[in-house]
Amino acid sequence: MSAGRESTSNPLAGRQLNRRHEFRKDEAWLIEHHDHADTRFHLVWRNTFAVADGVAASLPRAVAEALIGDHPPVLLGQLDGVTHWAIDVSHHDRTAIDDVLDGSTAGAMLAGLRDSIAVLPAQDSNLLAFASGITTWHAKNRFCAVCGGPTMARAGGHERHCASCGTTHFPRTDPAVIMLIGNEDKCLLGRQAIWPPNMYSALAGFVEPGESLEDAVAREVREEVGLEVTDIRYHSSQPWPFPQSVMLGFHATYVSGEIVAAPDEIEDARWFTRDELLESRAMGKRGFPYMAPPISIAGVLIAAWIDEQV
Ligand SMILES: [Zn+2]
Repeated sequence: MSAGRESTSNPLAGRQLNRRHEFRKDEAWLIEHHDHADTRFHLVWRNTFAVADGVAASLPRAVAEALIGDHPPVLLGQLDGVTHWAIDVSHHDRTAIDDVLDGSTAGAMLAGLRDSIAVLPAQDSNLLAFASGITTWHAKNRFCAVCGGPTMARAGGHERHCASCGTTHFPRTDPAVIMLIGNEDKCLLGRQAIWPPNMYSALAGFVEPGESLEDAVAREVREEVGLEVTDIRYHSSQPWPFPQSVMLGFHATYVSGEIVAAPDEIEDARWFTRDELLESRAMGKRGFPYMAPPISIAGVLIAAWIDEQV
């Protein structure tokens, strides 16, 4: 695999974080590294995060403690020897969060992850993506999917256990495929009605049970635009915690069919030449098509195709 395909370089990805899996069930280690003076806590408040001066604004324990309530902290891991935790503080009202931020971190504000990615360092985006995905999983799994009993977090926040039936639940990540279809000097981009005007991007969809990733690519293309594809090639991947997915990026080659956009999924889909996309890229937001923003692996797939690196 060439360096250009290292998925860790995609937005939201990152592998510098040492997740410390081996200590998740070590209560003494967890307490020590929860209470340590250098430890940092990342607030998650209703899908927003504290950001200040272009970096993730984490809090020391002494400050974060006031906000910890029903949701136990989740161990994210260690960076350069410093332990990072995520805490879901969504049960507080906005004023309580603002008061803590005002009193502790100069200029810290709550911001959505999508808005933050463009300005945050890659490692901070990765930490917040992790925090977002796992706190969402906790919020949605307070009751056992087997028996309906209450579940309790354990293992540093990487399991939820149901005492009623004994089932242990683990965090889930939903796989989704995203694919760019090439046809000689053209590639296919589509748009959804809810997107900004002129924005076009790669097709995408969730993997269904009983499907390989390649099957999912072929099915989604058939469903969304009525085309048959072949030569389905994996490119790279990206965490996509909106709310808890991983995007698996592919290129594929057109075989047959005429574009018929599925009206409940796609507003429009069309072929764009490489020259059209080069021109559009040079014009940024004023270009047509306006292509996927840089936070998305779609942008990575399109750039690789434009630059003939697929
Ligand atoms: Zn149960």
